[in-house]
Amino acid sequence: MPLRITVSMLSAYSYCKRKLFLEKVFGLFEPEKEALVKGTIRHATYDKVNKVEESLVKTITDKDNFDTIYERYLNTYSKLLRDSIAENKYRLSSVKLDLLKAYHQILPFFRTESEIRAKNIIKFIEANNIYGEELWNKLIPKISSEFAIESENLELKGIIDQIEQYPAGSVPIELKTGKAPENGIWPSHKIQLGAYALLMEEKFKTPINEGFVVYLDTRERRHIQINPFLKQEVKDLKEKVKLLLTNKQLPDIESNENKCAKCGLKDKCHNKELMQTLLKKLEPSLSSEERGHGKDNN
Ligand code: SF4
Repeated sequence: MPLRITVSMLSAYSYCKRKLFLEKVFGLFEPEKEALVKGTIRHATYDKVNKVEESLVKTITDKDNFDTIYERYLNTYSKLLRDSIAENKYRLSSVKLDLLKAYHQILPFFRTESEIRAKNIIKFIEANNIYGEELWNKLIPKISSEFAIESENLELKGIIDQIEQYPAGSVPIELKTGKAPENGIWPSHKIQLGAYALLMEEKFKTPINEGFVVYLDTRERRHIQINPFLKQEVKDLKEKVKLLLTNKQLPDIESNENKCAKCGLKDKCHNKELMQTLLKKLEPSLSSEERGHGKDNN
């Protein structure tokens, strides 16, 4: 089986390499979090709506206006959101979130999304005066979602949230929950988009020069330029992840205490005895000197 590093491992490494080690080498996992479950539901709903968008757009006629198109999107989104919530009911109950409450908390995202898509379609109709099948065939951009992609050559694989397809090329889009930084995008999100650009360039045989992160909580769409430095950073990071997974050396605790404060693995991670026990299990033949690497590894 050829080696593949997932793109999410690259961003996890750049966030906290010790956490990646705890998860991938020790097999420890954070307890489920409400925000994570809601994020999964949002992703699943986006994925479903993109799959039914073709039939929705094909029903649009010259009798439609912004309000009717908006309603059609919203009805579709709310039905698919209910489906996604039902599929995740056990995860929701594990974080003690009522299904109806989850529905009302997530629906506002899809009201805004319905508005954006309806506006785009009205603008496109006004410019081209086309409807139904012809409207769908010529509509720009088309959006593919949850696009699985991998490369033996790059030793990478991942699932791209959305790809917008324009006549001039494709653009990767990442959908993120949580707050956006003051400017630009978070470093780990930049790495993800850089990795997707590399994978897309190889698959589509065309340069990918830009990408976007949509911060769902604030509905902000932030641009990022993909340049050769970012692509090299991704390749270097992949080598570091490979090394982390194979050399069995526990990385130091994060210097940024804020990261540890909100980390679900903090109790285990900061437990020196547990770390030593897990390291011993991993490499029973290593001496204690070999197990550590210089300063405090715990
Ligand atoms: S507690 Fe801190 S160092 Fe440990 S895994 Fe979490 S973020 Fe990383």
